[in-house]
Amino acid sequence: MSKVIAIANQKGGVGKTTSAVNLGAGLAAQGKKALLLDTDPQGSLSICMGYTEPDKLDVTIVDVIERLVNEEDIPEGYAILKHSENIDLLPSNIGLSAAEVSLVNVMSRELVLKDYVDQVKDRYDFVIIDCMPSLGIMTVNALACADTVLIPVQSAFLPVKGLQALIKTIYTVKRRLNSKLEIEGILLTMVDNRTNYAKDIVAEVNEVYGKSLPVFPIEIPLSIRAAETSAISKSIFEYDSKGKVAMAYRALTDVVIRNS
Ligand code: ATP
Ligand code: MG
Repeated sequence: MSKVIAIANQKGGVGKTTSAVNLGAGLAAQGKKALLLDTDPQGSLSICMGYTEPDKLDVTIVDVIERLVNEEDIPEGYAILKHSENIDLLPSNIGLSAAEVSLVNVMSRELVLKDYVDQVKDRYDFVIIDCMPSLGIMTVNALACADTVLIPVQSAFLPVKGLQALIKTIYTVKRRLNSKLEIEGILLTMVDNRTNYAKDIVAEVNEVYGKSLPVFPIEIPLSIRAAETSAISKSIFEYDSKGKVAMAYRALTDVVIRNS
């Protein structure tokens, strides 16, 4: 049995990609086979995993989508790249912007990615989807094929309204496209425990959302070490394995495995 987790929040820069990389690496370190899907035309996940010029990649998710739309077969392992920490990656690049627009005219456009995920997921314990910062067709595609959604929320402010729009989209997708969709949890990221402000936000998120939605009992601390990993193609476990961010992502991985 494999589990598909979409990491989503239409707010930019909240730690979606960082969480995708480190959850993927955490799962791999626990002996789980993980596939990471980059569904963001920015290609940040691909960059973080060492493909620093995603626009130069020959085959990406764009080609996968093209094949799906044209009802062509997808060979085993097609477009998948390997990362040294034993993680598989389906990369993305700027071409996904145009591909997303072209989906508008495709029948069952919300279910194109599901077609792909259904073909590959049996080969993995976990499929982690890094969403782009929007609630557009690609994000709806990710939600339509996910078992759960993990929602990173940056603790520097409380984007309550944004979170409400995301949660509404999740429930609409659940009603119309994917009745099994659940919320894995809200994950507070970049928590600066030195400030009372951060503590207030953590308390407020728990108060506002904690009654109706799962909030992870783990917070990802703010750390320059975490920010630095984006540029060096390694997870936090390779870069700063004893640091507080590695400890937090390790704990998150354990909760995700326990929930699966
Ligand atoms: P986007 O919406 O653009 O896809 P995102 O939600 O994927 O953004 P990330 O790219 O993961 O967010 O993180 C945004 C920035 O914050 C990056 O520069 C990243 O290195 C940094 N960052 C992520 N997590 C932490 C952390 N725990 N401490 C400090 N910096 C962090
Ligand atoms: Mg990102």
